[in-house]
Amino acid sequence: MISVFGSANMDLVAYVPAAPRLGETVTGWAFRTIPGGKGANQAVAAARAGAEVAFVGAVGDDAFGPGLRAALADAGVDVGRLRTVPGPSGIAHIVVEDGGGNAIIVVPGANGTVAGPDDGDAAVIGRSAALLLQLELPMEAVVAAARVPGPEVILTPAPAVPLPDELLERVDLIVPNEHEAAALTGAAGPDEALEALLGRVPEAVVTLGERGALYGSRDGTRLRVPALPVRAVDTTAAGDTFAGALAVARTEGLGPERALRFASAAAALSVGRAGASTSMPHRHEIDEALA
Ligand code: ADP
Repeated sequence: MISVFGSANMDLVAYVPAAPRLGETVTGWAFRTIPGGKGANQAVAAARAGAEVAFVGAVGDDAFGPGLRAALADAGVDVGRLRTVPGPSGIAHIVVEDGGGNAIIVVPGANGTVAGPDDGDAAVIGRSAALLLQLELPMEAVVAAARVPGPEVILTPAPAVPLPDELLERVDLIVPNEHEAAALTGAAGPDEALEALLGRVPEAVVTLGERGALYGSRDGTRLRVPALPVRAVDTTAAGDTFAGALAVARTEGLGPERALRFASAAAALSVGRAGASTSMPHRHEIDEALA
């Protein structure tokens, strides 16, 4: 089983010819509400990729809460540890301009109320083979989750904020994209960033978008896995799909190279289709892409 301790946000996406400036009103041509949040996205990705997945987090008692819960449950994710708390759910207010540029406001809402795991949460996390963490919950809560003994801890350090040592000392594998890797390490390029990350955690993957991913381990292994060629339709949540699928591959015992290929295939399939969580591939599609 894989546990995800993380965020659930409703993405409120307005599509406009050009984003408004302060004081201006523009008319958009479409609006969508799409369940998202890095935690929920990784949970859906891992469940679709074939794992039993439990999600630990919180939604609000507003109109968005039931939709966020249903999106996880519909993907087969166990929501027994997903609380409903008073107040608003987390949201991401997203403006997408023609041409693809976007501007995003995240309001944490219920995610900001999540404290460290209680005994019930810790029992679920403790019997998991892997724990997926991101940084859209309060840092103290993330640190407390990472301290639960048992699972391999896989951290997506997004948004990129300084990482306390008490978190890093519990992390087995860190999976930043190249921008996060640069922000975390100050390194000039991804290879240098990978080496800097390995000074802090035993294994690291730096994802490079359409250029694939780099992997390194303190045992000296270095790998570069190319991305699968696809016509990119929507790169939203590529990194979350990658992280969720990578966790599945590792808990199934695949070595680094095969695990990276599995994650790359899952991410490429999601990039080739519109939607974030809705575009994440099912296991048979990943297996077919790799065959
Ligand atoms: P994030 O979504 O966090 O910014 P990346 O853009 O690095 O992360 O993408 C994560 C992974 O998704 C990449 O390592 C790659 O495997 C896959 N990916 C991203 N963009 C593409 C693309 N245009 N074509 C194929 N695969 C892609």
